[in-house]
Amino acid sequence: MTTHREPFDSVLDTVGETPLVRVHASPDTVPVYAKLESFNPGASVKDRIGKYMLDETVERGEVPEGGTVIEPTAGNTGIGFAVAAEQMGLEAIFVVPERFSLEKQQLMRALGAEVINTPTEEGMDGAIARAYELADELDDAVVPQQFANPLNAQTHYETTAPEIYEALDGEVGAVVAGCGTAGTLMGIARYARERDPETYVAAVEPEGSLYGEVLGEGGEGTEYKTEGIGTHDPSTNELFDPELVDDVIDIADRTAQDELKRLASDEGHLVASSAGAASVAARRVAEDIRDGVIDAPYDSVVTLFPDSSERYLSKGIYRSFEEWEG
Ligand code: PMP
Repeated sequence: MTTHREPFDSVLDTVGETPLVRVHASPDTVPVYAKLESFNPGASVKDRIGKYMLDETVERGEVPEGGTVIEPTAGNTGIGFAVAAEQMGLEAIFVVPERFSLEKQQLMRALGAEVINTPTEEGMDGAIARAYELADELDDAVVPQQFANPLNAQTHYETTAPEIYEALDGEVGAVVAGCGTAGTLMGIARYARERDPETYVAAVEPEGSLYGEVLGEGGEGTEYKTEGIGTHDPSTNELFDPELVDDVIDIADRTAQDELKRLASDEGHLVASSAGAASVAARRVAEDIRDGVIDAPYDSVVTLFPDSSERYLSKGIYRSFEEWEG
């Protein structure tokens, strides 16, 4: 285990081994724990896939030395991939829909990457299509494609999940996490179900997102402000496996924002909207376990706080709901 008490050779050695911290607004008998992913060097959960996926991609010979990584991303993946690419001697190009946070785009550029914007109306689909077009124009490029690449979920199966199980001596009752690519939840859920097939698993999405359709729930695709989770087109996602999910919990933007403000003022967490949504959903699952509505093998719930609110200050994340641009 990383001790953080000895010098490291590279910033990449500091990816992972993030702290797991009790969320106090949860039932005494069914504690909620959150893994604080902003402790990673690029300050989000996506540093994990940057390091793991690029390592594997280079090892498999899918990109030559000095080659180019092109990825469609809401931003955090770009930062995670940019940190890793630079250290591995690769070029990086990221295709980002315009609406996503400017802080993230500035950080990707600072890390040496090129950023290309696609129109907000075209969504992630537009960014994915553009990434492949660009790759076709170059002869040394690879598109890891986090929405379809099993290495994304494998990263969390190999790193995030074992860290959680070690911290809780294996006593994990439920796993609750936001789904963007769903890599985080799928990797942890697969590990959890192998440890105990009864482990309860819930996916979290913003109200207006359509992951619920995959479990046969209805819904209307509408815009939402919560950043980093949700989809309007579940068919573009190849990772989300309904067999591994008991429920999809929809959280309204306003509820997510109230909670991220509460997490800051009451519990000292500077976390963003996807963490606010995950925290509310995790608390609901904990209350249902306490009340006997949900059966879980242990009285505990684990979630993740994927990134930091500092990345969204320009969008007014701590202002009123109306002033928050999302
Ligand atoms: N929260 C934020 C802020 C993110 O950027 C992401 C990644 N899109 C997630 C949550 C969800 O992670 P995943 O893609 O592994 O589902």
